[in-house]
Amino acid sequence: MQDDHTKLFHKLHISSLLDLALLVPSGYNDTTLSKELMLGNLLTAEASVKSVKKYGSKLQVLFDLPAFRRKVSATFFHMTPYHINTFIPNSTHFIQGKLSEYQGFLQLSQPKKINKPNCIIPKYKTVLKNSEMIELISSMIFHEKLINEGLTTREANTLLMLHFPTDLGQIYEQKNLKTNIIHTLKTIEAFNHFKKLQGKRVDFPATVALDGDEKVFIENLPFALTNEQLKTISEIKSDFADINKAAKRMIVGDVGSGKTMVILASAVMAMPKTSVLMAPTSLLALQLYEEAIKYLPKEMNIALVMQGKMVGDYREADFIIGTHALLYKDDMPQIDLVMIDEQHRFGTAQRHALEKLSSRGKTKAHMLQFSATPIPRTQAMMDSALIDISLITTTPFSKNITTKLISKEDFTSLLSHIQEEIQVNHQVLIIYPLVEQSEQIPYQSLEEARGFWENKFDNVFVTHGKDRDKEEVLLDFREHGNILLATTVVEVGISLPRLTMVIVVGAERLGLATLHQLRGRVGRLGLKSWCYLYSHNKTNERLESFAKTMSGFEIAKLDLQFRNSGDILEGTIQSGQKFRWLNMATDEEIVENAKKRF
Ligand code: ADP
Ligand code: MG
Repeated sequence: MQDDHTKLFHKLHISSLLDLALLVPSGYNDTTLSKELMLGNLLTAEASVKSVKKYGSKLQVLFDLPAFRRKVSATFFHMTPYHINTFIPNSTHFIQGKLSEYQGFLQLSQPKKINKPNCIIPKYKTVLKNSEMIELISSMIFHEKLINEGLTTREANTLLMLHFPTDLGQIYEQKNLKTNIIHTLKTIEAFNHFKKLQGKRVDFPATVALDGDEKVFIENLPFALTNEQLKTISEIKSDFADINKAAKRMIVGDVGSGKTMVILASAVMAMPKTSVLMAPTSLLALQLYEEAIKYLPKEMNIALVMQGKMVGDYREADFIIGTHALLYKDDMPQIDLVMIDEQHRFGTAQRHALEKLSSRGKTKAHMLQFSATPIPRTQAMMDSALIDISLITTTPFSKNITTKLISKEDFTSLLSHIQEEIQVNHQVLIIYPLVEQSEQIPYQSLEEARGFWENKFDNVFVTHGKDRDKEEVLLDFREHGNILLATTVVEVGISLPRLTMVIVVGAERLGLATLHQLRGRVGRLGLKSWCYLYSHNKTNERLESFAKTMSGFEIAKLDLQFRNSGDILEGTIQSGQKFRWLNMATDEEIVENAKKRF
């Protein structure tokens, strides 16, 4: 018996009783006998055959409805032997069909013969046969079991009502599930999510508790940290204080939200123990190293480790910054804090390798990961069952960026705007959808367009994802360039302080998260900047919403809302919506309440 259930659960891709209970019917066959005649509605009634007439392939049956003392004429458009043998004069049946009226006569179009009146049979849309599913549900879903799973009486009753209904009027309002039922299903779905993750989080004792003092470092900075930077630092501080549990935290903040200061403060708090920071590119590692040298206390010994380039001796350092080249050093000192910047650009294997490098016996170094991909607060709450999350939703200075949708007819004024920016020593970034020409894309490619820009302007630089010299081109452009032509792969890169304009060609093809990353490249130091979204269709609700907000967290929500709008050809949007009822963009409160139950 139990084995059978396991097999069926496997087939249904579910793993718990609540998963099963949440597979509520997508509809019902209701054979409850009608109490009144309602035109336009389904009529279910006992009917006896008065007469039968054939017209070509049509069969017309006149029924008597004893309960209503009325007659109704039913038409079967494609007569079969079954009809002729079933509806013989004076026989009685239960029939069901949509009721209408024609010149005072009641009509039924193609009614069905019903075997059993007064039942409501659920229709399940699963890989199992409906009868199999009904049997499974009937054998497993009981009030007591649902309560044992942690549901409230109300929640249990809602599920039972959906699986074993007695009156569809309690379930539907105008053919839609009632709002309170949907709300309850969302709540159960969120509850089930947290229930499953409960116990999934694995914590290890820390190699050591860290208690370095960050106050002096913070006071000596040339600017005041934002409240969210300070809050994140204090969350990390209390993580570090716990020797029984190594920190496991993800710090999520928009581009420019000042995550580097959190990284540096963490390295200070780790003193006198050694910390390591891994960045996805040499450019980024170098930039982090420069910032560390600039802001950290002089007595801290900082080393840089990259392929082919080393600064300082990492075996002696307090703070080691590097690329994945770090993973191949077999003479690393003992490390008690591991940090990963732009964590999404590393594979799981690389992140684990670093973690392993720093674990000692059954204990682990404290681990902080930094991500510039904002997620909606609901998603953060959902994920927080596995990893602690700090959100930095504000940026230290507000960026002054104007975002505009433009089209062919705006090209001339765009050219003069580019000219103006270059004249005041600012830089322009133009993003093309592809490197080479393609039939599928109605926009110029990088290679097709480059001649035009190179003829018109000086110091035009070109790079793209497969470009081996990408990093050098970027460094060269930073010093000497006017215009950089690139593809979206420059997504996360170095800081270009003079960059004040980004033009995205074929912007409607990109996800909002990508556009947000691209826009984040300009105005890094507060210079007035522009983001032009070039598209053949100048009206686009998604892009217009994007133009109105600068918050990555708002944009993550918008991305979810427009997830199904279909005009995104790019594959960056997370696939596989996990929830049937919950909407991550709008159901923050439901998720929050479900989380509180644990
Ligand atoms: P990201 O979160 O993208 O890593 P950074 O840490 O690079 O952002 O910060 C962006 C810029 O903001 C840097 O030049 C940094 O020095 C500056 N910065 C960080 N925190 C503050 C602050 N509280 N006030 C003013 N500027 C800040
Ligand atoms: Mg950063």
